Amino acid sequence: MPGRAGTRQNYRHNEDDAEDHQEPMTTPDGAPQESTAQPSDAQRPLARLLEVQRHDTVIDQLRHRRATLPERGALADVDGQLSALDARVKELSVVRDEHSTRQASLEEHIEASKARRATLEKRLFGGQVTAARDLQAMNEEVRHLARHISELEDREIEVMELLEPVDAELSTIEERRAQLDADAARLRSAISAAETTIDGDIEAEAGARGAEAAAVDAELLAKYEALRRKLGGTGAAPLLGGSCGGCHLALPAMELDRIRRAPPDTVITCDQCGRILVR
Ligand SMILES: [Zn+2]
Repeated sequence: MPGRAGTRQNYRHNEDDAEDHQEPMTTPDGAPQESTAQPSDAQRPLARLLEVQRHDTVIDQLRHRRATLPERGALADVDGQLSALDARVKELSVVRDEHSTRQASLEEHIEASKARRATLEKRLFGGQVTAARDLQAMNEEVRHLARHISELEDREIEVMELLEPVDAELSTIEERRAQLDADAARLRSAISAAETTIDGDIEAEAGARGAEAAAVDAELLAKYEALRRKLGGTGAAPLLGGSCGGCHLALPAMELDRIRRAPPDTVITCDQCGRILVR
């Protein structure tokens, strides 16, 4: 649009002669008011960049929200509790296995001793053995076996008493684990639902951002992207009442004057923070 550009050039020269004809409005303290004058697109060729910045900021906020959903913290806590339970179950299982092996071994001994006693008693009362010495020896062994079985049974009871609290704790853990599994499932589903919603919002913002960015000069957009990466997400900021909207520092009067006199399509950066300043 050479005609309009020419007009703008002429206007700029006029402005050089008589200051602020373009924007006679002033703030209460007498400073020229820049943001409420609503200049046309031709007068603010960089204004689109602020729209891109606005969408990028919203997208950044959505991504941050997505990454820091409170349910994620709660889920990590539940997963931590489940891991602790698993570790405890492993410890208890080792103890339980030891006791169970011991109990099985005792039972085996008890059964063997009882079988031996039954055999002896059968012979003792069967009438085949008649020699007094043999009968006495067999009687002796039966009594000995009875004592032995009773001792083994006492030891088995001790082992069973050791197993009892272990089994009780394992059963408590199973109940707790079921609760935590349900909590984790509920949290995962809440996270998934929130992600779907946020992803939809991000997609909508990205679409709107893309439409704005398409109308911005590629070189300017690249400069903006580089600044955004370097400066915590804000690459372009409005000039607000003589201050940079990015770092919020007031610009020196001479610098403000220089900016006002520059052609509207000149890319101006803040001396303090380096961001693109949009008039
Ligand atoms: Zn700044």
